[in-house]
Amino acid sequence: MNIDINKLNRIVGEKNVSTDLADLYVYSSDASVHHAMPAVIIRPETTDEVQRIMRYANREKIPITPRGAGSGTSGHAVPIDGGIVLDLKRMNKILKISPEDMLVKVQPGVVDDDLNRSLQPYGLFYPPAPASSRIATIGGEIAANASGVRSVKYGATRDYVLGMKVVLANGDLINLGSNTRVHSSGYQLERLIVGSEGTLGVIVEATMRIQPVPKYRCLAVAKFDKLEDAGNAISDIISSGTNPSMLELMDSIGIVAVNNAMNLGLPEVGAIILFEADGNVKEAVDYEIKKMKSICEKHKGFGIEMSYDSTERQKLFGGRKKLFASLSKYKQGIVCTDLADDMGVPNSKIAEATKKIHEIAKKNNVIMAVYGHCGSGVIHTKIMLDSAKKSQWDDAEHVIEELYDYVHSIGGVTSAEHGIGLSKAPAWKKARPDLIPVMRAIKKALDPNNILNPHKLMDAPDDWIRATKLRYRVEL
Ligand SMILES: Cc1cc2nc3c(=O)[nH]c(=O)nc-3n(C[C@H](O)[C@H](O)[C@H](O)COP(=O)(O)OP(=O)(O)OC[C@H]3O[C@@H](n4cnc5c(N)ncnc54)[C@H](O)[C@@H]3O)c2cc1C
Repeated sequence: MNIDINKLNRIVGEKNVSTDLADLYVYSSDASVHHAMPAVIIRPETTDEVQRIMRYANREKIPITPRGAGSGTSGHAVPIDGGIVLDLKRMNKILKISPEDMLVKVQPGVVDDDLNRSLQPYGLFYPPAPASSRIATIGGEIAANASGVRSVKYGATRDYVLGMKVVLANGDLINLGSNTRVHSSGYQLERLIVGSEGTLGVIVEATMRIQPVPKYRCLAVAKFDKLEDAGNAISDIISSGTNPSMLELMDSIGIVAVNNAMNLGLPEVGAIILFEADGNVKEAVDYEIKKMKSICEKHKGFGIEMSYDSTERQKLFGGRKKLFASLSKYKQGIVCTDLADDMGVPNSKIAEATKKIHEIAKKNNVIMAVYGHCGSGVIHTKIMLDSAKKSQWDDAEHVIEELYDYVHSIGGVTSAEHGIGLSKAPAWKKARPDLIPVMRAIKKALDPNNILNPHKLMDAPDDWIRATKLRYRVEL
């Protein structure tokens, strides 16, 4: 593949094109286990520049991988065919905040927390915020259909997309969706881009709904001796008709990990649930919180603390927010890998699934933490292993297969919010063969030269451990 660097220099300026080995190495991985070197990184600032880059790449048939913060967990932004990485972080302007229309218009590289900070003075917020909101970009969140701790009440990214400007593989710019809350004007193509993982087009602008910040928020923490009791409490809270604005689980492994990493001194019990209610009427928030508290108590929850105070709430939530990053501190000699990390299960199966995950991990000699936005059915797991040992990667493969077979057998999904990328493709393809021809036809129509993030999702290799490189040193 011959890439004309001078041509790229002329489009974005020399300082926004890099072939420096250290840069290429940084962009060769994301938060997943995968690694592949790009040939060049390019950082456009305008839609026009993105269009010119796409026209060039399409003409020369050069693979091009859009990238936000690179916080994706399944290899979405890893350029497995080499080529160009299109870093969109310079396109980071908030173009419009409209409290009248309750929407924002943003460029794709705007970081989620920055958007929320800008909305604060207006008493507004953008709810889907993933736990990675400190770094994740709105473009990356749309492309992965990210969700977060408040999605149990407020929904996922897809529920906030009104419209979008997208540059197609051939460089054409299309304007999708509307500025209105509803539209019934043909195919909802803006929805097609949600979850497309950079394979169908480059999002260069997004129009997103926003919400008023509720006047009252009350966060509570309940402890449980048994993980199963915590799982049953979560299912019961959801089916009881209460409306939590957060309902999160942490198992004993997660608790020990955050204690090790952050010295939090959390009680090392079987599990913790964090539940929150919000609203503009304090009595209504009290009612919701009390109802959830009594459901926890019915399932042997104890030591329940709660607070309306924002500093206190942040303290209570601190361990959960940094759980993922803390997991590698669980035990010396093991690392936390983003494998089989975000399945979704039906509400009634939460307790059973959490128990099963621990059983499968034990049987296969790895450790798996169980946590996440379980109120929305999202179960986060991480496979924690000795990454230097080849046998541990074999163990991981067995876990992945067994786990997804189980999840699909109970009506669950391969990924609830992180997306498919590379690592989850084999399990997802096995579960949803009916979707593959339709998705390939859509891809071919929009990107006939297969340049946009090729070999991901439905076209990802079935045997990812051997077909792609790992970013760990493994002794054979
Ligand atoms: C500590 C941690 C916690 C996390 N917690 C959560 C969580 O609670 N919920 C959740 O949903 N996820 C979570 N994630 C996963 C990740 O943060 C999300 O998937 C996020 O949406 C990725 O955003 P990004 O900007 O990093 O995108 P990247 O990782 O850079 O890219 C993700 C995908 O989007 C594509 N893409 C990026 N920008 C564009 C664009 N402008 N146009 C077209 N395609 C584009 C890329 O090609 C890639 O396929 C977490 C990750 C980490 C590391």
